[in-house]
Amino acid sequence: MRSVKELGTYAVNTWCPGCGNFGILTAVKKALVELEQDHGLDLSKTVMVSGIGCHAKIVDYVRCNSFYSLHGRVPPPMTGIKLANPELTVIGHAGDGDAYGEGVAHLVFAAKRNLDATMIIHDNRVYGLTTGQFTPTSPGGFPGRSTPAGSPEDPINPIKLALTAGATFVARGYAAKVDQLKELIIRGVTHSGFSFIEVLQPCYTFFNTYDYYNKKVEEIGEEHDPTNMTMAMELAGKWNYDDSGSAIATGIFFQVSKPTYEERLLKGRRPAGSATGDVVGLVKEMI
Ligand code: SF4
Repeated sequence: MRSVKELGTYAVNTWCPGCGNFGILTAVKKALVELEQDHGLDLSKTVMVSGIGCHAKIVDYVRCNSFYSLHGRVPPPMTGIKLANPELTVIGHAGDGDAYGEGVAHLVFAAKRNLDATMIIHDNRVYGLTTGQFTPTSPGGFPGRSTPAGSPEDPINPIKLALTAGATFVARGYAAKVDQLKELIIRGVTHSGFSFIEVLQPCYTFFNTYDYYNKKVEEIGEEHDPTNMTMAMELAGKWNYDDSGSAIATGIFFQVSKPTYEERLLKGRRPAGSATGDVVGLVKEMI
């Protein structure tokens, strides 16, 4: 069994001091330790995938198998890894530009298929690595580098997007509430199906939202029924990534059980590591 410290690497961390990614990194490492200790997670059979952006460096900072993908293309390698070997636990990381801009179709289809994997979105609502352009979740009027007079677009609502696409686990955490985020990651990884975890991640340098979130973030209460889609959509609609007066709900919005993509497609086969005949048989069945 490893400790949080032992999950660190020799890579020099280049995130800006105060970046919300540090909270996500700590939550991920704590979650992996607990998953290994209490839920039988095998770290040698766990793979993290990231996209392009500040968030992506997280795979350099955790001692775990990892794969850097292209901008917006995190779900395709997650899908390939899981289909090649369904025994692996797959955790994807993407930024808001990655997931909701360039890669939105990939995200929608991974959710629609109910791939058994966890997707953690580091949503800082700005392109940080390229120094401050607006993204799909930036508020209307955001004065980014590419929109000095203010963005003329309203933000999308990622929770509603994930619910509508078919994700069977939908949650929102906050990078500064590490223990709650760690629990959400554990719940997401142990969920069978597509787990979507949107994380409010302040970008200290280009969009510092700590004060705003600290005042408005509120945990979802016990009156919420996470199996009820209507309640989940209503809760998701109360705050739309804008400057409205509503509290910002964090916790589990929705969770239901459904057969996974691999169960429906592979029917118990495990292509990787099998005799090639197995793969040929699988392909023949699929065409
Ligand atoms: Fe974090 Fe923003 Fe700095 Fe990127 S630019 S490391 S998101 S604070």
